[in-house]
Amino acid sequence: MSKLAIDDAGLDGYIAACRNEYEAALRALVETPTVSADPARAADVRRGATLAAELIRQCGGEAQIVETGGHPLVLGRLGSGNTKRGIAVYNHLDVQPAEEPEWQHDPFRLRIDGERYVGRGTTDDKGPALAALFAARYAVQHGATADVQFIWEFEEEIGSPHFDAAIAVQAKRLPVDAVLVSDTVWIARGIPAIAYGLRGLQGARLVLETGVKDTHSGLTGGAARNAVGELAQVLSRCCNAATGRALIPGFYDDAAPLAADEVREFLASGFSVAEFQRAHGLRSLRTQDAETVVRRIWGEPTFEVHGIAGGYGGPGIKTIVPQRAEAKVSMRLVPNQEPARMLRLLTAFVQSINPDIRVEDAGALPWYLGQRSGPYAEAARRAIAYAFGKSPAFVREGGSIGAVVAMERHLHAPVLLMGLSLPEHGYHAPNEYFDWGQAAGGMKAFVRFFAEAGGIGARQRPWQPRAV
Ligand SMILES: [Zn+2]
Repeated sequence: MSKLAIDDAGLDGYIAACRNEYEAALRALVETPTVSADPARAADVRRGATLAAELIRQCGGEAQIVETGGHPLVLGRLGSGNTKRGIAVYNHLDVQPAEEPEWQHDPFRLRIDGERYVGRGTTDDKGPALAALFAARYAVQHGATADVQFIWEFEEEIGSPHFDAAIAVQAKRLPVDAVLVSDTVWIARGIPAIAYGLRGLQGARLVLETGVKDTHSGLTGGAARNAVGELAQVLSRCCNAATGRALIPGFYDDAAPLAADEVREFLASGFSVAEFQRAHGLRSLRTQDAETVVRRIWGEPTFEVHGIAGGYGGPGIKTIVPQRAEAKVSMRLVPNQEPARMLRLLTAFVQSINPDIRVEDAGALPWYLGQRSGPYAEAARRAIAYAFGKSPAFVREGGSIGAVVAMERHLHAPVLLMGLSLPEHGYHAPNEYFDWGQAAGGMKAFVRFFAEAGGIGARQRPWQPRAV
């Protein structure tokens, strides 16, 4: 694809001309409520897969729906099919539920408000998926020699339970040199970022039952054990809530520290503590020091209590001694923390304090550390700079995308996280939106990447995961 010399004016004309088509495709996808978490929406998810395959075909590609045992996967390809080379683009077309009361209109109707596309899934991740598809059509029609493969998942928002097995089976059919994932968020509008690392995750439920039912505190109080109180006591010993420091023995043993040059690039990325605080609506933070903040959100592990349930939460007061309590917690993990080992450390520590607490595995995702230099990283850097007029910062993301690790492992290719979303677009939030500026710029960036990356020749330079 190195032969694809980009005609700038021609590409700009193509992008402007396909705006109506882009909006129609986005409308069709958004108005198909592919909420993977909701069993009542299973038929909608399937309709979404059929529609997605149809959109790839309308762009001149081949597509098939692959059964996974859960929601299906759509695999597509644009290009001759005669080449053994390809760039894969991963997006997910399932969405979060949209029950927040703050929605100003039906989240499953696309509202076009000037440059803005409002609706569930617009930025996460249907809008970016279509930008890549329209870019691939242009690249293929203008002399691309490498194929563009599409891997569109419908279970990302529920932790990708079937993705690893499905992609392992399909890997032979997908000869790819590099994978682009477009499901990440920039630092701010005008401040692009490419993520090369993701934190992993280990979730757990802590359950304590000290009796068969809540009892009257006037009759049993003083002698009966209080399940909510005991659970709170244990949680307070797992983590210092004032500092965020985990207190579980061995918690930090395997955590690889950030390299000095990584931290330097984080700080030079344009990240601002004040902007971060404003974007997330946080009244105060544990620290105002920028270096500490970027280290903690991108490169250090966490222990978080998501919720505690038990006892009485209704109006007024009810004088009971609760006999059942439950906490949902998770640990965000960094290289080289293995989720199963972290769960064992948590379980052992909790039970050493209170042997009656049951610790249940609530799911895990591995961390990811990819390339921040090398030919594909450089191609991605140049693609964003070409399209948006500013070089992206290479940062890590604090979240987890399960599919990334699976693709790296089974496709034996580097995975680059070239997102198009902005913090204000509202991932998982009410009134989620995407915008034409990011879509059009994204198309341009993808075309530039397809043009350059096809000529890099990863097959001659086998790629190795980076050692930590
Ligand atoms: Zn997403």
